[in-house]
Amino acid sequence: MPRTVEIRGRSAAPGLAAGPVFTIGMPAGGATRDPAGLTGDDLSAAIAAAAAELAMLAERVEGEGADILSFQVALLEDSALTDPARERIAAGEDAVSAWRATLDGEIDGYRNSDNDYFRARAGDLADLRDRVLGHLLGVPAAAVPAGAVLVGEDITPSRFLAMDWTKGGGIALSAGSPTSHVAILARSRGVPMLIGLGPLDAAGHRTAIVDGEAARLILSPDAAAWAALEAGRAARDERAREESEVLHRPALTADGVPVGVFINVADPDELAGIDPATCDGIGLVRTEFFFHGRGGSPSEEEQLAAYRRIVAWAAGRPVTFRTLDAGGDKPIAGLTIEGESNPFLGTRGIRLSLARPDVFRLQLRALARVAAEGNVKVMLPMVTIPEEIDAAAALLDEALAELGREGVPARRPSLGIMVEVPAVAVEPELFARAAFFSIGSNDLTQYVTAAARDISAVAPLCDPAHPAVIGLIRRVARTGAEIGRDVSLCGDMGGDPAHIPALVRAGLRSVSVAPPFVGRTKLAIAAARTA
Ligand code: PEP
Ligand code: MG
Repeated sequence: MPRTVEIRGRSAAPGLAAGPVFTIGMPAGGATRDPAGLTGDDLSAAIAAAAAELAMLAERVEGEGADILSFQVALLEDSALTDPARERIAAGEDAVSAWRATLDGEIDGYRNSDNDYFRARAGDLADLRDRVLGHLLGVPAAAVPAGAVLVGEDITPSRFLAMDWTKGGGIALSAGSPTSHVAILARSRGVPMLIGLGPLDAAGHRTAIVDGEAARLILSPDAAAWAALEAGRAARDERAREESEVLHRPALTADGVPVGVFINVADPDELAGIDPATCDGIGLVRTEFFFHGRGGSPSEEEQLAAYRRIVAWAAGRPVTFRTLDAGGDKPIAGLTIEGESNPFLGTRGIRLSLARPDVFRLQLRALARVAAEGNVKVMLPMVTIPEEIDAAAALLDEALAELGREGVPARRPSLGIMVEVPAVAVEPELFARAAFFSIGSNDLTQYVTAAARDISAVAPLCDPAHPAVIGLIRRVARTGAEIGRDVSLCGDMGGDPAHIPALVRAGLRSVSVAPPFVGRTKLAIAAARTA
């Protein structure tokens, strides 16, 4: 039995898993065909086979998973990706090295990008490289045991989606990124995932524990590690039991003051399995997801279909859609401006929407249409001056007038703003023309502390508990009460029980949190006092 090895990394998805170790990556051997004789036609056949395989997988999965796979199929069908390989073959190279060199070059470009989003997409391309190579060389796909801990450099979305995670299992990566597609999928499916574990040699280890809470991988766990896993599971079950007691009840502070608890969603699929009665509604729909993989411009009908599913789920509860907040840490190919020296201070959020009225108009039309079907509100991200609200309101009115002329049912949703730029939080009364305020503590904190939310070296400074941030939240809550505007908070601090006492004392009476955090937020509110 090998010695127990503990490796620390970063958690990209919480939870605990234990199971047999399965090393991911292209199997070195097992090729049934000789690379020397493979031609351009063989490459075309392998690309077609890989595309067909991904398209079939896309039919079995839903939502963001299907989008990722369709995006990969589109890449394989794009001659801009495949032509350079064909040119190398025409110049005399064999198909395997031509394809590998072409894709490796692309992957390097993505990996070396300054941009988190593009770095995260490198895994999608590596998947395409390996799938096509597998078909070219006739390598049989290895079977992954149920409940396995997948260990490797990075994992591809298609491999993630092909696994049956209902049997348990986890992911441990030497590289990886918290913003990769796989990390987003792992969080929404409850699969524990570790990244950044560094050089990882799992050879000889048969079992592993992925501890997504303490961000550590334990290879060949000893008796103490198994006991710690059991204790961790027991603590998690106990927390779940306590949360289930409050989950269906409205949240009240210890001194009896009601606090609304809403949820944040980025995709209608996230709502599957969530009982709407556990929350007061949806406080933030991040609409960015619909714009990825569609050249940055989904059609009005595509948007409407997705928005409708969310409103139908809420069954009359309020749903606050945020208009597109692309840019900053959320670039969208084909839409956001490339090469800005500081994208967080650049053309993002409402600034981009106003710069692209063609794209904004379609979103406003879809939102005005869905507003006719439920309790819909709309909010604008990154507002900095009151005139941005006027400009957006004018475009919304135009969209409504157009829909009216076309005889399409629509309604004017109330138009509020995110409070995430210090200029708004310092003087909120100047923004009284907004129908409501929702504090974006993630961005507000990074702008107040001048410490980027995505640079780990300055993470201790980017602290929402900084008295300056809490002071601004108090100011916004007080102003909202004085001028009669609802104030909520939809940044991540709302879902962290450690921050709830300060938020409640600051006068906040509504928070919007990630769906898995509703129970713990309600428990924390029940223990907090308003004064
Ligand atoms: C925020 O900034 O707190 C927020 C909720 O928006 P996002 O995290 O999407 O920027
Ligand atoms: Mg924000």
